[in-house]
Amino acid sequence: MKYQKNDKVVIKIEDMGSSGEGIGKADGFPFFVKDALIGDTVEARATKVKQNYGYARLEKVITPSSFRVEPVCPVHRQCGGCQLQALSYEKQLEYKQKKVQDALMRIGGFSRETIDRITEPVVGMESGFHYRNKAQFPIGSDKNGNLVAGFYAGRTHSIIANTDCALGVPENREILEIVLAYMRKYHVPAYDEKTGRGLVRHVLIRKGFVTGQLMVCLVINGKKLPSAERLVAALAVIPGMTSVSYSVNEKNTNVIIGERIVLLWGKERIEDRIGDIMFSISPLSFYQVNPVQTEKLYGVAAEFADLKGNETVWDLYCGIGTISLFLAGKAGQVYGVEVVPQAVADARDNAARNGIGNASFFVGKAEEVLPEKYRREGITADVIVVDPPRKGCDERCLATMLQMRPEKIVYVSCDCATLARDLKALCAGGYEPERVRAVDMFPMTGHVESIVLLSKLHTKQNIEVE
Ligand code: SAH
Repeated sequence: MKYQKNDKVVIKIEDMGSSGEGIGKADGFPFFVKDALIGDTVEARATKVKQNYGYARLEKVITPSSFRVEPVCPVHRQCGGCQLQALSYEKQLEYKQKKVQDALMRIGGFSRETIDRITEPVVGMESGFHYRNKAQFPIGSDKNGNLVAGFYAGRTHSIIANTDCALGVPENREILEIVLAYMRKYHVPAYDEKTGRGLVRHVLIRKGFVTGQLMVCLVINGKKLPSAERLVAALAVIPGMTSVSYSVNEKNTNVIIGERIVLLWGKERIEDRIGDIMFSISPLSFYQVNPVQTEKLYGVAAEFADLKGNETVWDLYCGIGTISLFLAGKAGQVYGVEVVPQAVADARDNAARNGIGNASFFVGKAEEVLPEKYRREGITADVIVVDPPRKGCDERCLATMLQMRPEKIVYVSCDCATLARDLKALCAGGYEPERVRAVDMFPMTGHVESIVLLSKLHTKQNIEVE
C-alpha cells in the first residue's frame, strides 16, 4: 500500500464527490478530502487508506482555489449542515448540475449525448442564505454541563452550539434563547442520548414565509412539560407566533419528532402560500423547506406535465398535497398518495380551503395504494408525478406505473442516485427521458433536487436502453 494512516499528503483537488468533498491525487493515489474545494492545493493528513483510494483531513490550504469565498458562518466546518459554504455560489450550481448528469450517466446508463441534449439550465437562487423555513435544533449539554442548542457535527451526535444558523430565519435565535432561558430557570433538563434521561430533545421551528406565521414544537422525552405556561408566555409575544406545542418522543431513536402532538398555545397548524394556493401545515407533515425554490420547482413540474385540462393525474408521495393542488386547476382529476395520515388530513383540508373539488387523497404506501386502485378500481393515469424520499420508489410502485402506461411521468427527486436507478427501470419498460432540470433547493449544501420528464414510447422497438 502506498500510503498509511497519519501520512501527510499534498493534493491538488480536481473534482468533487457526491457529498461535496474534494477529490485529488497524491502521486497518482486518489484521496477524498472534506472541506477541500476544486482548484485548491492542500496539505492533508490521511485518516483512512484503502486499496485504491483514501480519506484525508484538510490541514492547510496551500494555494486556494479561485472559486473560494469567505464563508458566512463561523462554524461551517464543524457543523454537518453546509458542505459548500466556502465555494462560490455560481460554482455550487455548476457542481450540482454536473452531479445530476453524472448520476444519470453512471447509474442510469444514459449516454452523454442524451444527457447533454435533454438537460436544461439549473434553477438557482438570488441569495443562498436564510432560505430555510424549518429548523430542528438538538438541545443538549456541552462538556462543562452548560445547556446548548445547535446542530450535530457532521456524522456525529455531538452538538455544535449555534442558535443563529445562516440558512435559517432570524427568529430562530430569539426562540432558542427563550427556550434555553426557560430550561435554566425552571431546571428543565436536556435529554441525554447516552443515558436516555432528561427531557428536551429538539426544538422544531417553522415559519410561513408568505404569512409570517411561526410554529414552535419542543420534542420531549416525557409526557408533560413542566411550567409550560412560563415558556408559552415568553414565546407568544414574538410577532407572528401562531402555534406552540410539544411532541412526545420517548423512544431511543434517530427519528426526531414523536407522533403525539400536544398543543400548548394558539393553533395546531400554521399557514403558508405557494403560488395561489394556501396551505395549512402541522408539525408532523412534510413541507418543502425552501419556499422560494419550491414555487419554481412546482412551476417546472407543471411545465413538464403540460396539462390540457381533462387529464387524470397521480401525485405519489404527495405530502400535504402541494403538487396535487398546484396542478389541480389544469387537470380533470388528481389523486394524491401519502403514507403519513396527518399529512393526508392536511392535504384534504388544503383542498377544501382552496375550493378545489377535483383532488382526492389516499393514506398509504404508494407501492400498495397504486396497484390496488389500478387493479381493483380500474383508475388509470395520463400523468404520474412522483416525489419520493431519498430512497426513491419501491419496485412495486415502478412496476405498476409501467402497467398503467401514462403518457408522461414527472419524477421529482432529492437524491439523484436513486433517481437514476429508477429512471433506468422506467426506460427499460418503455419510456424515454425528455427533459432534465436541477433546482437548487438547498444552497450551501451538497444536496440537489432535480426533475425529469419521461414520455411514453409509442413503438416498443424504439426503446432506448443504453
Ligand atoms: N410532494 C410533497 C412531499 C415530498 S416528500 C412536497 O413537495 O411537499 C416525500 C413524501 O413521501 C413525504 O411526505 C413522506 O411522508 C412520503 N412517503 C415516504 N414513503 C412513502 C411511501 N412508501 N408511500 C407514500 N408516501 C411516502
